[in-house]
Parts: sequence; structure tokens; C-alpha cells
Amino acid sequence: MIKYSKQRQAIKNQLLNRGDHPTAETLYSELKPSMPNLSIATVYRNLKQLEGMGEITIIITDGATRYDYNVKPHAHFFCNKCGAVLDIDTDREQIVKIGQENFSGSIEGYEVNFYGTCPDCMTKSRA
Ligand SMILES: [Zn+2]
Ligand SMILES: [Zn+2]
Repeated sequence: MIKYSKQRQAIKNQLLNRGDHPTAETLYSELKPSMPNLSIATVYRNLKQLEGMGEITIIITDGATRYDYNVKPHAHFFCNKCGAVLDIDTDREQIVKIGQENFSGSIEGYEVNFYGTCPDCMTKSRA
């Protein structure tokens, strides 16, 4: 069993607090002021361990690796304007059913991405 270090706990908490799929660099620059001994390599190592423990998941978006505290199956929304990545609650049964209708195998998971303009950008463009 891997020891649940203070640093790992802090990294996980930061991920949870943000809830917007930050990159390792973002987490690092936010934690650094309160954790002077923290290095970017430590952040990467801990994120990798958390992923291995099934506590977080990884999303890769145009070359950037982002981290997700939400390990339940859910869809993602990518804003074409500001690059924000948001969660969209989707009905798991519904999505699997749609896929299963045209497929004779057994579907055990899915990944769905939506693209468009996020609520923040909608507000800004109206102003
Ligand atoms: Zn946006
Ligand atoms: Zn997510």
C-alpha cells in the first residue's frame, strides 16, 4: 500500500477544489506558495500515483494533459473560445443504449466530448 503523503493529499484537494480539469503546471504554481519544497516532478509523480490508485483520471486535450477528480463516467465539454474543460452530466444508461443499438458486442464504458461556447464566454459575448 502506498503511503498517503501530505503532498499527495494537498494535490488531490487542490484538484477537487478547482473542479475544472487543471494541468499539472497549474496545480504546481498554485500549491508552490504554501509548499516551498514542492517540485514539478513531485506533482507529476503524485498525480501518476493517484491515477494508478483510481482516485483521479487523465484527459488529453490538444497536447495538454489535464487531471480530473471525477472518476465516474461523464462527458466533457471543450470551449472553443477559452479552452475551458467542463463536466456534463450524462445519463450513462442512455448513452450505452444508443451505442448498443448498433453494436452486437458488449459496451462497458464510453467517452463523450462536446464542443462549443461555455457559459462564461456566452456571457462575455453578450456584454
Ligand atoms: Zn469559454
Ligand atoms: Zn471531468
